[in-house]
Amino acid sequence: MKEKSEEKRVAELFLYLTGIDNASLKEREMADAVEAVLDELEIPYTEDDTWKRTGGNAGNIFAKLEGEGEPMLLCAHLDSVAPALGKKAVWKEDGTITSSGDTVLGADDLAGVAEILETLRRLKERNIPHRPIEVLFTYAEELYDVGSEFFDFSQIRSKEAYVLDASGCTGTFLYKAPTIVSFEVQIRGLASHAGFQPEKGIHAIQIAADAIGSIQMGHVEEDTTVNVGEISGGTGTNIVPERCEVRGEIRSYVHEKALEQMNRMEEIFRTSAGRYGGEAEVTCRIGTYAYETSMGSTVVRRMRAVCKKLGFSFLPKESFGGSDNNVLAAHGIEGIVLACGMEQVHSVQEYTTVQALKETAELLTALACPETEEKIC
Ligand SMILES: [Zn+2]
Repeated sequence: MKEKSEEKRVAELFLYLTGIDNASLKEREMADAVEAVLDELEIPYTEDDTWKRTGGNAGNIFAKLEGEGEPMLLCAHLDSVAPALGKKAVWKEDGTITSSGDTVLGADDLAGVAEILETLRRLKERNIPHRPIEVLFTYAEELYDVGSEFFDFSQIRSKEAYVLDASGCTGTFLYKAPTIVSFEVQIRGLASHAGFQPEKGIHAIQIAADAIGSIQMGHVEEDTTVNVGEISGGTGTNIVPERCEVRGEIRSYVHEKALEQMNRMEEIFRTSAGRYGGEAEVTCRIGTYAYETSMGSTVVRRMRAVCKKLGFSFLPKESFGGSDNNVLAAHGIEGIVLACGMEQVHSVQEYTTVQALKETAELLTALACPETEEKIC
């Protein structure tokens, strides 16, 4: 009976959370809802004010549950990608939960948020002996980890982290992710009349075309990709365009290779601009830093032990996307990203299942148990 009611409870909490708007940098209402649950569970937490620097309206929530043994960190993000406004979850008879079809469901990452809160509730309610648990709910993760990047990591004691933010059946986890660099190029030429005196102008779009034409796109190496994804410029068909903006990204499992590609990109735009007498200003942002968590690490060995104990498949996977775990890794915390019941994410076909929500809460509860420490030796 208890199992049944806990299963229903995590699904109902998930449904409740999906009914709250949570666009990136506008997570205030979501943060309030999560804090209300923590208050109810009498778990102390803080919310930082880093949103004042990032243009948001809610901070990173950091909660702590005392326990015995080595501390562990659980992490999930509060925001969802667009279209995320006015989400209405539909709970189907077969246990699938979908959106109503015109928004994402928000299982990315509210499934993770609900599962963490359910795990905390279980540990307290059932008086299960557990390790010290630190919980980090970040904001604006979907904008390349904005919230976690600003978080003060000196507060975290854990050396081991489980980030709830991946697709796949229970037991799937990501142990490797790339550096992602996004870039923007502002090209400045000179406007002139396209019919009367085109020779007096400097054609910003032509500079962009010249540069883009000599950039290799896609897999430039096996572990590195380059993409120009956006271009805009010009003000009228009869004007030699003065400005053009180009945006794109670079990904690589090897951090240095991503930087190398970025330097190459900058050189290409500068050379093209120089050729036509214009200027190119290149800015870039390192959104995530590449990491690879070893199969011999404590976090992976504990995951293996718990999967075996609960009968879940142990499924390590590489990812070519980023998550908060990239930021944790950059701060010396060894982590993996767990599948947590989010499928077809970043689309209006996104869905979860009650089974996945239930299984992930079981997995987290087992990971929190000190006894798994002995079994991993
Ligand atoms: Zn996510």
